[in-house]
Amino acid sequence: MSAEPLHGSCHCGAVQIRVAGPLPKDLNDCQCEHCQKRGALWAYYDVAQVSITGVTSSYIWGDRDLSFHFCPSCGMTTHWANVDPGYPRMGLNGRVLGRDVFQQIPLRKGMPS
Ligand SMILES: [Zn+2]
Repeated sequence: MSAEPLHGSCHCGAVQIRVAGPLPKDLNDCQCEHCQKRGALWAYYDVAQVSITGVTSSYIWGDRDLSFHFCPSCGMTTHWANVDPGYPRMGLNGRVLGRDVFQQIPLRKGMPS
């Protein structure tokens, strides 16, 4: 397994992402209505593993515990974070890693986790 950090970005490159960790073992094509409309494929990481640079906008709905972040320029969903900054987990949109990378990762059709 590579020790190189994973690198990703939104479509326009304004938001840059580095992951200090391996490729996720799978990506969750979450079956909830919101994620089906959003089109993200979620990889779950510890917050400390992922660094995100660049300004994002966010969308909060429903139970208001998750904030869905996207690039305000190109609109691409980059990640979600819990609104509680102490929450240890986050979800990265695996699509930021680029097609050549994310298409190697198995998909599962799960529900929110
Ligand atoms: Zn962008």
